[in-house]
Amino acid sequence: MKMTFPHLGNTYISIKPMLNELGIECVIPPFNNKRALELGTRHVPEMACLPLKINIGNYIQAYELGADTILMAGGCGPCRFGYYCEMHREILRDAGYNMEIITLEFANGNFNRLASVVHRLTGSTALLKVPSLVGQIAKTARRVDELEMLSFKIRARELEHGAVDRFYRDFREKALKVTSFKEISNLLDETGELMRSIKQDQKSAPLRVGIVGEIYTGIDQFASFNIQEKLGTLGVEVDRKVTVSNWIIEHIVKKSLHLHRDMAYAEAAKPWLGAMIGGHAQETIGNTVLYASNNYDGVIQIFPFSCMPEIVAESILPDIERELGIPVLTLIIDEMTGEAGYLTRVEAFIDMLESRRKNQKYEGGWSLSWN
Ligand code: SF4
Repeated sequence: MKMTFPHLGNTYISIKPMLNELGIECVIPPFNNKRALELGTRHVPEMACLPLKINIGNYIQAYELGADTILMAGGCGPCRFGYYCEMHREILRDAGYNMEIITLEFANGNFNRLASVVHRLTGSTALLKVPSLVGQIAKTARRVDELEMLSFKIRARELEHGAVDRFYRDFREKALKVTSFKEISNLLDETGELMRSIKQDQKSAPLRVGIVGEIYTGIDQFASFNIQEKLGTLGVEVDRKVTVSNWIIEHIVKKSLHLHRDMAYAEAAKPWLGAMIGGHAQETIGNTVLYASNNYDGVIQIFPFSCMPEIVAESILPDIERELGIPVLTLIIDEMTGEAGYLTRVEAFIDMLESRRKNQKYEGGWSLSWN
């Protein structure tokens, strides 16, 4: 068995050592790329979600490298993610790719499915490893996300243009080759040190922009046209609350262990969207409110064309923009989106934020309460 999995930003950095620990051979698909999207677009219905198209491209490219089994996370909706697994299975079968799909369901934070999959693939002895593996995955994912957040801060202030990008790209390439959690931990230490050694303009007060929206297009470099890096290059400090580690720790680990979860976004979203409607729509609304209360200069919402939860969030955001005085730019991505037009909109938004800050003689922004 040679197992593969879809790309979602830096998730491969935590999954690969897990499979190694379980003794399962793994094939990491090439990083998301134009061909993966073209392959997916060829086989997937036009109105399907963009991540589904790129996932199918990942599987076909991994199949070409010898993969025969797919590991993916499942869900129970309420958006289309709930039936992704079945769609993947049928699309691949119709396209003539004979691959087995194994789905990890974490509905209601239940680990039984994970345990039964591990048992089936590796035998009963590996079951004892499950609690420690979950802990190591969560810890690694958190450290990888912290490194990315550090890159957001330093990129906006670096004096040697491109230094963060160089170290960060190098890190992602090297992470493809490491085999254990220990090696990843060393690589994270090394890269963190390199980044902190970059000379920065300590006096600068960069614009601060929060990224909200659907998780895949928020996290994945290819799917978002590297928006976070590009904003950093424009001298903007970016922040994003929706991360892989947040999903693992808050929605899976803490839920299953009935631990207190950080629901600040849900509390903040309440006056506008009081229920979870699928995807990350409630996070989009809540985090926009939180960014406004923390005096951010603006918010960028990003989501794939036809993403139902984010369309609902998009319709609410103008009210928040007006009431809380925070500018919001919405970017919708599909396979037809042209990078040049997209970047022009981002640059125009940043120009507007800059002149807005100058005109308002920025002194720390606004405050608000939603009680
Ligand atoms: S969140 Fe949006 S893009 Fe993701 S599966 Fe649901 S509908 Fe599709």
